[in-house]
Amino acid sequence: MSVGTILGPLRYRADLRTLMFLSGLNTLFALQWLNMARGCHLLLPTYLLAVVALVIKHNHVHSPTFRAPSWNSGFEIWLSLLTAHPTSGIITSHNVLHHGNNNAEADFVRCSLVRYRNNLANLMTFFFASVAEMYRNKPSDLEEWRSSRPALYRQAIAERVLTYSFLVILVLLDWRSTLKYCAGPWLFAQWVLVTINLLQHQDCDFRSEVDHSRNLTGRIVNWLLLNNGYHTAHHMFPSAHWSTLPLIHERVVEPRLDPSLNEPFLWLCVWRRFIVGKDWQGARA
Ligand SMILES: [Zn+2]
Repeated sequence: MSVGTILGPLRYRADLRTLMFLSGLNTLFALQWLNMARGCHLLLPTYLLAVVALVIKHNHVHSPTFRAPSWNSGFEIWLSLLTAHPTSGIITSHNVLHHGNNNAEADFVRCSLVRYRNNLANLMTFFFASVAEMYRNKPSDLEEWRSSRPALYRQAIAERVLTYSFLVILVLLDWRSTLKYCAGPWLFAQWVLVTINLLQHQDCDFRSEVDHSRNLTGRIVNWLLLNNGYHTAHHMFPSAHWSTLPLIHERVVEPRLDPSLNEPFLWLCVWRRFIVGKDWQGARA
């Protein structure tokens, strides 16, 4: 069997894991919403996979999952429905503003948005500060794309129409189940994905070529979050496929990186920086 046959329409074999995670989330949503299976044991994987789905969306807008544009377009619509948020909606805020102006004034997820004296308060409120900033400076990307990128414009409109219609149908059919089994994981996932920016960039050196980001190097966290722990490598090579990030980290990043910016455990990093406030340089208001 040739490599092409094994991969099918995928560009990278590693994305079989991507498809497994999304199928798992789709199944969990369907089982619970249709009341075919419910219980606390299903909530944890649903919340976790809702976060993973947003990580997948992030990976996909940097490096398309499939070879053919039509497959990518269908995949983006599936991602939009699974996360209740249009996939193209992150292109300006993330790819353009965060990657193009990391932690500068134009970046909606810059760490300076929160300046409480307690770093746990910063962690808890960062999402709300970032969303408020996004709404204050809402980019007019749709208008721009209409003339400059007509294919993306059509895709963005299709995603919005389908996502919002799907949401209205879900609510009309069973608003209680939609609120309980879908809205909770969707909002939690958005909170995590925005808040993780604080962990990845707080107290980093944005003038440095490598020390602009904090990395999570644990195996389990990277297996689950598709190597998104290797954040320096991702910022240095944003279009590199996620499966190549550990090698880039090892060969290019690690020899030059400040070792304190390598964190083996997510929970330990959260505990030290945000709960006990150790290693945090403090609010610089
Ligand atoms: Zn990115």
